[in-house]
Amino acid sequence: MTKRAIVREPKPVLHQAAKEVLPRAISSKRVKKIISDLSDTLRASEDGIGIAAPQIGVSLRIFVTSEEALTLGTKNKDVKPLVSDKKKEWRHFVFINPKLLKASRKKFDDSEGCLSVPHVFGTVPRAEKVKVAAYDERGKKFERGAAGLFARLLQHEMDHLDGHLFLEKARETHRVEKEKV
Ligand code: ZN
Repeated sequence: MTKRAIVREPKPVLHQAAKEVLPRAISSKRVKKIISDLSDTLRASEDGIGIAAPQIGVSLRIFVTSEEALTLGTKNKDVKPLVSDKKKEWRHFVFINPKLLKASRKKFDDSEGCLSVPHVFGTVPRAEKVKVAAYDERGKKFERGAAGLFARLLQHEMDHLDGHLFLEKARETHRVEKEKV
């Protein structure tokens, strides 16, 4: 298990467009290690539900999301990743070279945070539904539709791969010094 240090704002790697992974390199030792490090780092984080490779200093188009995002409400403003059940071993979904196929015109506002911008939250408008195509960790191409918080998470992580942070889209931001329990 390798928990990597999370790169924090304002490191340049967070503001660069990450490179595509060659499909034949997905099964390489190097890419496998990056994926398992992303997973370990996400699991070790206090309240993360997704992490992108640039956040561990690797400028490649890979991110990992937790199925926990599917269990958290989006309508209820009080239900946030902060109240996650860390005892559970959530499954992780790997997205390599993701492409946005569809995004609903309808957007919704909700609070967002980021492991690279600790203690800062902001209201970000995101498409309610998206459809993404990507490769999984075995190099198999897949498509996945998502709604609500999971759709928000996919858009947030895809932005990381293009070198964008949620702060650029947030309408209002505020600091939360102590984690709510
Ligand atoms: Zn983030």
